[in-house]
Amino acid sequence: MLPFPITIAIDGPAASGKTTVGKMLADQLGYLFLDTGCMYRAVTAAALQQDTNLEDEAAVTHIAQTMQLEIASGAGYDDGRQYTVLLDGRDSTWEIRTPAVDANVSLVSSYLPVRQEMVRQQRAIGGKGGVVMVGRDIGTVVMPNAPLKLYITATAAERARRRLNDRQRQGQSGDYDHILADIIRRDEYDGSRTHSPMLPAADALILDSSDKPAATLVADILAMLESLSASQPVS
Ligand code: C5P
Repeated sequence: MLPFPITIAIDGPAASGKTTVGKMLADQLGYLFLDTGCMYRAVTAAALQQDTNLEDEAAVTHIAQTMQLEIASGAGYDDGRQYTVLLDGRDSTWEIRTPAVDANVSLVSSYLPVRQEMVRQQRAIGGKGGVVMVGRDIGTVVMPNAPLKLYITATAAERARRRLNDRQRQGQSGDYDHILADIIRRDEYDGSRTHSPMLPAADALILDSSDKPAATLVADILAMLESLSASQPVS
């Protein structure tokens, strides 16, 4: 479809559907998929496991710099995972999605040296192109030269409903009002932090997923890529 593999940057707030859309898009294009949120979640889960004081920036940074994080395929599992997260060799795919991690990940991701380490790893993984990278700062900081930048959003109510469905599908309990409050708190924190706040890049296309199934958004994006490709001379 495209004459060469490109980088597609997708940002957006919590539970906006960006991960589902990004994974489907990567699968259709045969691209690598990297959900950068899982990396900040892994640092947070590791710090909680080790009873680290999360206010201790140096201690949390040490964990970010030394933990062994591997992101592997989710194929072969029937528990709804999109990929597998191995933290120090242990399957931590669901442990990084607990309410305790939700409650603390924004603090951990606000630390500059933690971000610097994560961005270094993200560029090492996806720097060659042929990648769909999803997060909060991909279009603005991690991959500012990506030829396609998207910012996927949805109403907070719709995002909370989806997150509640996800939890229930995993057999976990969840309270809608509590999830909604957490999503709003996390968006405010991520959007107002000093380092790399969550923001659409100036040249990002903003897509609202509130009333659109992921498959429709993916079809729209693929059509956009077709026209991008048609307008680029093949060298
Ligand atoms: O996308 P997800 O909800 O899994 O991200 C968890 C948290 O990780 C976000 O709330 C944000 O604090 C942080 N994050 C970030 N930069 C990214 C991706 C995630 O700060 N590129």
